[in-house]
Amino acid sequence: MILIDGKKVAAELREELKHEVTGLKAKYNKVPGLTVILIGDLTPSQIYVRNKEKSANEVGLKSEVIKYPDSVEEKTVLEKIEELNKDETVSGILVQLPLPKHIDKQKVIETIIPSKDVDGFHPMNVGNLSSGYESSVPCTPLGCYLLIKKVEPNLNGKKAVIVGRSNLNGKPMTQLLLKENCTVTITHSKTKDLKAECLEADIIVAAVGIPELVKGDWVRKDTIVIDVGINKTDKGIVGDVDFDEVSKKAKALTPVPGGVGPMTIACLLKNTIECFKRSQI
Ligand code: NAD
Repeated sequence: MILIDGKKVAAELREELKHEVTGLKAKYNKVPGLTVILIGDLTPSQIYVRNKEKSANEVGLKSEVIKYPDSVEEKTVLEKIEELNKDETVSGILVQLPLPKHIDKQKVIETIIPSKDVDGFHPMNVGNLSSGYESSVPCTPLGCYLLIKKVEPNLNGKKAVIVGRSNLNGKPMTQLLLKENCTVTITHSKTKDLKAECLEADIIVAAVGIPELVKGDWVRKDTIVIDVGINKTDKGIVGDVDFDEVSKKAKALTPVPGGVGPMTIACLLKNTIECFKRSQI
């Protein structure tokens, strides 16, 4: 079984990006800039943002975090986004989710100009991705895609089963694999026989939020399994895949932690650099 080392692949990607930033600095005499807006004091969000800032600095991006208290008015946040949209030193804007209830998430997402939408959540980027045009791609599915390609560079004709249909993970994952000529089945909470669907798969991507849902007898010995889940349980953090069972069966599997997670941040940096490059044309 191949244990897909997301930490290692993410470190390699960051190294590549660092070189790329050095080249961009030499060419344009400026570096890509990432601005993150953090609202409130949720501990996981603070940790994510701190890690994003640290990684951005490591690869040589200009990074900035703008913090607001939970009580901030929606109007203040939207005005700040409008200001950042016009700021030439800002290549990418990310508003850390979740947001306090009084702030409309969709309004925030749609206020970010699509060319700086490093999360790939703006409807324009969602549409471009599904139409096969250039777009920012949500960071987690992009990370999954890069991990799959490490194990199997040619995905032509492969059967992929995506478990979970969220806008964040399942749906963009589907589009990325369709582009690679996979035959993609997207499954969800109303799917009748999930095990039978998974047994058909050359590739399974599980993004559900249910601890250890995908079992050993759901996979074949030639299946590549990508586990997006991050679930807090009594035995610690586990994924959506039963690691002990599936690791004895599958061709390749990502661990949790240390699989998809590290790729998400590396892909955010990649997206910021892509936004910068597109803005220089
Ligand atoms: P979500 O709650 O938005 O979507 C879950 C999806 O799973 C839904 O489409 C639902 O239909 C489907 N689902 C629910 N029960 C099901 C069942 N029994 N069988 C099949 N499908 C079922 O979740 P999300 O935002 O996509 O996140 C999924 C998981 O990924 C969570 O554990 C989350 O913490 C994790 N996550 C990890 C990263 C990372 O960087 N590794 C990033 C984002 C999310």
